[in-house]
Amino acid sequence: MRPTIRDMKTVDLIRKKRDGGTLTREEIESWITGYVRGEIPDYQVSALLMAVFFRGMTDDETASLTDVMAHSGTTLDLSGLVGIPVDKHSTGGVGDTTTLVLIPLLAAAGLTVAKLSGRSLGHTGGTIDKIESIPGFRTDLSREEFLRLVGRSGLALADHTADMVPADRLLYELRDVTATVDSLPLIVGSIMSKKIAGGARAIVLDVKTGAGAFLPHLEDSRRLAQALVKIGTRLGRRMSALITDMSQPLGLMVGNALEVREAIDTLKGQGPEDLETLCCELGAELLLTSGRETDRGRALSFLRRLLREGEALGKFVVLLRNQGGDTAVIEDPSRLPRAQMHVDVPAPRSGTIASLDALSIGRGASLLGAGRFTKTDRIDPAVGVELRKKVGHRVARDESLAVLHVNDPANLDQAKRMVEGAFAIGDTAVTPPPLIVERVGP
Ligand code: URA
Ligand code: CA
Repeated sequence: MRPTIRDMKTVDLIRKKRDGGTLTREEIESWITGYVRGEIPDYQVSALLMAVFFRGMTDDETASLTDVMAHSGTTLDLSGLVGIPVDKHSTGGVGDTTTLVLIPLLAAAGLTVAKLSGRSLGHTGGTIDKIESIPGFRTDLSREEFLRLVGRSGLALADHTADMVPADRLLYELRDVTATVDSLPLIVGSIMSKKIAGGARAIVLDVKTGAGAFLPHLEDSRRLAQALVKIGTRLGRRMSALITDMSQPLGLMVGNALEVREAIDTLKGQGPEDLETLCCELGAELLLTSGRETDRGRALSFLRRLLREGEALGKFVVLLRNQGGDTAVIEDPSRLPRAQMHVDVPAPRSGTIASLDALSIGRGASLLGAGRFTKTDRIDPAVGVELRKKVGHRVARDESLAVLHVNDPANLDQAKRMVEGAFAIGDTAVTPPPLIVERVGP
């Protein structure tokens, strides 16, 4: 017989973890299921989270936590679909529209993409907000419709539903107000439980590093990437991770409709080089880990060909058509929401861009309305920041560094200062930071 909450007293779990003990799978189950059912109060879970924060967790504990969280609600069963279900997760970036390119690219490569994504929060963007800037596109699919579209076309994109991984939602809210967000086992449990519940068999992680990243320091990014890959592998998934640069934004566009335009350009083979490279590198990881390809060079050239020859764009058209999106935006981007004002940010001096702080650009775009500071804020799909210069570029005095796309001028001055301040201009030549910093395998 499984122990019940009544047999297992939460105070004993708190004491055990407080004193550096190791929780069993049954103890973790009693904690998580008891909390989700409302049988354990917030104050006890808060104490337990703080004990985990200070004492950490073993790999066994972290794997149990992840698995129990993943099964705290409904899960997606993709086993009936043809093809290998794959997924990608980013720890969050600025101007990172990779997912919108990668979904059709992977589907064009013959992989199965049942993608659940999130919304923007803070200075980082979210795929669901971006795709919703396409008129008509629906992301609130029922489970049946979602699976039917994946079965028929090999791809679908939907918002997370409330019935999946309720444990993460509850724990995250509590972590947020108890200063226990930045605990490695809790982060791993949070991220990987959602991926496990999503049903993919092969998962690639894009762990960002640098100023605009959730964890800006490389040692922390590396520790997180290694832990995510290890726990995913223990739970039977084929895992790999790339640690990638988020010291400057990805591509040139930061903002929802702006990033859709950039994704469409990239699907036409005319996107910014860093964005195209990242999409192909992440895609190659999935072709390799899922066993579809054995050679990285071949995988990369296959994906670049799918972009160049319009195969990936064709799958994007299918995605839009399946989910009610206006496919005419592909030929005519002016059908996307457009801002009323365009405000130039001129260079205060001439020189070379020495650095371009992704965090400030992300905050500037959010101030204009492209992102949310609280979960209930409304975003404006039209607004954002269009970069004209990136690290290593030469600039003349008064030449444009960026263009702000603005509807509501309320925060314009602050946003403009933030964007101008993001650029450091020097006198010596600068080599841009490498995009792919490290690869982490199982
Ligand atoms: N992202 C998540 O989804 N969860 C965390 O705990 C941290 C980052
Ligand atoms: Ca971008």
